[in-house]
This record gives sequence, structure tokens and C-alpha cells, in this order.
Amino acid sequence: MKPNAFNYVRAKSLDDIFSVFSEHGDEAKILAGGQSLIPTMNMRFAAPDVLIDVSDVDEMKGIQVIDNSLRIGAMSRHVDVLNSADVAEHSPLISMAMPNIAHATIRNRGTFGGSLCHADPASELPACTLALDAKFNIASATGSRTVAAADFIEGTYTTCMSENEVLVSVDVPSSTSDTVAFFDEIARRKGDYAMAGLAAKATVSDGKIANPRLVYFAVGDVALSSPSAEKILSGATITDIDTDAVCDAIASDIEPFDDLTTSGPAKLAMMKVLTRRALNAFSGNGGGS
Ligand SMILES: Cc1cc2nc3c(=O)[nH]c(=O)nc-3n(C[C@H](O)[C@H](O)[C@H](O)COP(=O)(O)OP(=O)(O)OC[C@H]3O[C@@H](n4cnc5c(N)ncnc54)[C@H](O)[C@@H]3O)c2cc1C
Repeated sequence: MKPNAFNYVRAKSLDDIFSVFSEHGDEAKILAGGQSLIPTMNMRFAAPDVLIDVSDVDEMKGIQVIDNSLRIGAMSRHVDVLNSADVAEHSPLISMAMPNIAHATIRNRGTFGGSLCHADPASELPACTLALDAKFNIASATGSRTVAAADFIEGTYTTCMSENEVLVSVDVPSSTSDTVAFFDEIARRKGDYAMAGLAAKATVSDGKIANPRLVYFAVGDVALSSPSAEKILSGATITDIDTDAVCDAIASDIEPFDDLTTSGPAKLAMMKVLTRRALNAFSGNGGGS
């Protein structure tokens, strides 16, 4: 199928974007990498009058280290994030997640911000940004605001942004030397969306775990953490973790949904496998992708 007819504007600045928004309101849509929007338009689930191509908007580009954090421009292509030495050094969790996002051709066009704005519950980046307590920098004609990762995605394909706002960049706190990151997912084929996935991190110092984060994706409407499991792990000695108790706690916090390919109970079994791998990684025994 082909999309409905639409107009195309190539913005050169944030102000250009805002002036199209003020003229066309919610009939105008940001075009980032187009890897989700264009298929949606081809299937006629979306029919915007105007596409605003933001490839030339400098404020939305680039990856920078600022003080103790990494600023990733919304228009950073997946391939650039994957290959960034700064991301590898300051945010190993994101580096570990990137090869799992789709295939090389899609990663060449798809963008960091586009993936987050699309808010697919099976996507890797919403889980990573939640585990890392990232901050989302959003702008509109009337000013800018910063939103915590936990508040950015509100549901399947739904964010907190209104139609006249644009995601400019995401700030990710830098990893510390005692942080252990773990990322893994179970998919039918490499590059497919996950049936279940886990983005996790903890600081491990003198054999003790602190600030553990376990965030699961492809199991609910949004990426979901397990506060009960995190509570068990917080302060635990790595040689003395009750893995069964952690897995039971996850099951008490999260009841995975059935999707088109995988039942909820099968997803829960996968979450437990991933959790065991994460705990192994926290103990210094590797694991993760
Ligand atoms: C075959 C296939 C397999 C895929 N597999 C995976 C996968 O395994 N994991 C995964 O995470 N993704 C996967 N994707 C999706 C891919 O990662 C896309 O890159 C991503 O979902 C959307 O990014 P984009 O830059 O292409 O955004 P677009 O498609 O251009 O935009 C998506 C939506 O976000 C809005 N938007 C984009 N940027 C902004 C912004 N800065 N501010 C405000 N709104 C904005 C757009 O208006 C649109 O509504 C797959 C895609 C395909 C086609």
C-alpha cells in the first residue's frame, strides 16, 4: 500500500518546526528516521498532512559528554549510538542494547529519539532509559521542559508530549567504575522484536549490591521495573543472593501480557531466565549481550 498524499517540509531549526506546528497543529508530524512512521502511513494507520523532516536540525544532533552525563541528540542514528566510544564508556548498558535493535539497514536510518517517541513496549531503549534514570529534554514554541524517563512514556505508543512539542535530546547519567550493566533479550531471530527482555544495572562494591535496577520490556504496555526484586537485591551480598526469592518477587510485581506470538506465562519464564543471567553478571560471571 501507499500512504495518503502529504506535504514535506525540511526544517533547519527548532523554530522552523514550531512554525509548521503553529500552522498545521496535529496534522503535522515529525519525520525522524521514518522506520516506524512510514510503514504506519503505508498501512494508512496514520495520515498526517505534513511531514517535518528534522534531519538538518543541529540542536537535535550529536552525542556529547557534559559533566557527569551523556547527552544523546534525538536525531542520533542507532548506528551512531552503536559505534560511539563515548556511549560505550559512559553508558555500557545502552551500548549492549544497540545491536539488538532491528537490523543494520534499519539502524542506519532509525534514531534514538524516534524510538523513544514511538514508545513501542517491545523496544529496547525505553527500558534502558528507565533503568538509567535518564532525563528527556523537550521543547516547544513556548519553552522547554525536562521529564524523567519514568514519566515520558505513558502507555503503548503514547508519550507525555503534546502535538506541538519535540524531543530534542536525552541526558543519561554516566556509569561509575563500580557499576555493572546487563542487557539481554529473547527473540525468535536476531533483530526481531523481543518476546521478553531485561535492562539491568547495579553498583557492586566490596561484594555488596546497591541501587539495583531491573527493567523488563515486551511484557506489558510499558517497560516495567520490579520494586520487590530490587528491594531484595539492595544491600545483598553477591555470594548470598536467594535467586528463587528474586524470581518470585518479579512474578509478584509483573504479570506479563499475552501477545500475538507469546503467552504471558512463557514471557514470565523468560523473565526469570534473564534475571538469573543478570544476577550472574552482578556476581562477575559475565552474561548479557
Ligand atoms: C522491520 C523492523 C524491525 C524493527 N525492530 C526493532 C527492534 O527490534 N527494536 C526497536 O526498538 N525498534 C525496532 N524497529 C523500529 C526502529 O527502531 C525505529 O527506528 C524506531 O521505532 C523509530 O525511529 P525513527 O527514527 O525511524 O522514527 P520515525 O519512524 O520517524 O518516528 C516515529 C514516531 O515518533 C515521532 N518522532 C520521532 N522523533 C521525534 C522527536 N524527536 N520528537 C517528537 N516526535 C518524534 C514521529 O512523529 C513518529 O510518530 C524496527 C523497525 C522495523 C521496520
